[in-house]
Amino acid sequence: MPLSIAIIGSGPSAFYTVGALLKAGADCEIDVIERLPSPFGLIRGGVAPDHAKTKNVARAYERSALDEKVNYYGNIEVGRDVTFEDVANCYDAVVIAIGSALDRPLGVPGDGKNGVFGAAAFVGWYNGHPDFRDLDPDLNTEGVVVVGNGNVAIDCARVLAKTSAEMAATDLADHASEAIQASPLKDIYMCGRRGPVEAKFTNVELREMGELENCAPVVDGNHLPDSITEKMDARDLRVREKNLQSLRSFVGASGEGKDKRIHFAFYSNPVEVLGDEKVKGVRLEKTEVQDGRAVGTGEFTEVACGVVISAIGYRGEIFDGVPFDDSAGIAVNENGRVAPGVYAVGWIRRGPTGVIGTNKHDGDRAAAQILEDFTESKNPGRAAFEEILIKKGVRWITYEDWQKIDAAEQVAANPGAPRRKFTRVEDMLAVLD
Ligand code: NAP
Repeated sequence: MPLSIAIIGSGPSAFYTVGALLKAGADCEIDVIERLPSPFGLIRGGVAPDHAKTKNVARAYERSALDEKVNYYGNIEVGRDVTFEDVANCYDAVVIAIGSALDRPLGVPGDGKNGVFGAAAFVGWYNGHPDFRDLDPDLNTEGVVVVGNGNVAIDCARVLAKTSAEMAATDLADHASEAIQASPLKDIYMCGRRGPVEAKFTNVELREMGELENCAPVVDGNHLPDSITEKMDARDLRVREKNLQSLRSFVGASGEGKDKRIHFAFYSNPVEVLGDEKVKGVRLEKTEVQDGRAVGTGEFTEVACGVVISAIGYRGEIFDGVPFDDSAGIAVNENGRVAPGVYAVGWIRRGPTGVIGTNKHDGDRAAAQILEDFTESKNPGRAAFEEILIKKGVRWITYEDWQKIDAAEQVAANPGAPRRKFTRVEDMLAVLD
């Protein structure tokens, strides 16, 4: 009997695991269980709409999904429609690949005011993720503060800064496109609590900020050191040096003829969100970096804004039955092993860092561990799982179903755009009815 393997989640770490199992030629059936009807996790819901090339990797995931050993079970939420125990009882091995879906809270006074959004929510909103379809950020403001100096912060700033022409060939959700283009936004402040050398964004992403049609970067040259004295590995050093070079090229950039500005507010730690019920601004404390840490100087400034996007990192959550490290926001695991027959991959294993390809190592490792741990199948697998779904009255989506939804999105696309996303689960399901 083939080994039965369930993978919970269908993003990059899930599909790299599928790919590694297939490549190993394992005698197995692999079932990918996904909460939404649509597969691919962050590729669809996280990667910025104007970074279409990054999304191309989904073609390789699709090839795996279409392999005869693989079944897709979309629209099934473990913890809601079925329990983790249901899954674990059916399969020999279960791989948890659910990512880090939640925002780390900003944790300053006023962070609960109307107009403060975590980046997971804001990115989900512009990417048409059904969970955030109704987020409805009020962009009727001239100022937005983005907290954080990572690639997610830069994605949020860039999507707010681009013109409709720059976004025309993307799958930016219609509701987000309309709200952004109707906004009188002029100033986007990207606040880093540390300096330009410590900023986490990568250089391709940073450089893009100097190439925008209607938005000019604003950088204070006094923030830029002549050289990098901090100790770091050679690869990091290269990225930071390139970043400094890009930031230097931004100093004094002419914003003439451009309506928007992106302010690189280094050494600026948000200490309070100002306003009544609604955000009116952010109070920032000037910082210095000492031994790599941001230390407050006791000097404060205020920035006016109507929206705050906190892009300070994500955290995971997990269903009952799996040990969880609450402080790290990840599944308790040792090198990916959670319990006998249970494995974790991707951000739920190691936390929310790294690019899409970083997950390949996780997939390779989990596949190798499974094949090392199991020489024969003991659990009933797919047939038993489908029995549970039928007994519980759960409607699931096959990969063929998803292909119909996918085709309907592509047909509905604006000229030049890859698709017009369905942003509600019921609209996706309606395609099949
Ligand atoms: P990240 O790279 O870890 O950046 C988080 C940022 O938030 C850092 O600047 C951090 O500053 C700051 N921060 C954390 N806590 C803070 C606090 N309490 N107050 C103020 N600032 C705070 O995380 P991310 O941007 O969420 O990205 C997650 C991963 O996805 C990264 O590996 C990223 O490269 C990747 N990603 C890649 C792309 C791409 O390749 N285009 C796009 C999106 C995401 P400190 O450094 O001082 O802690």
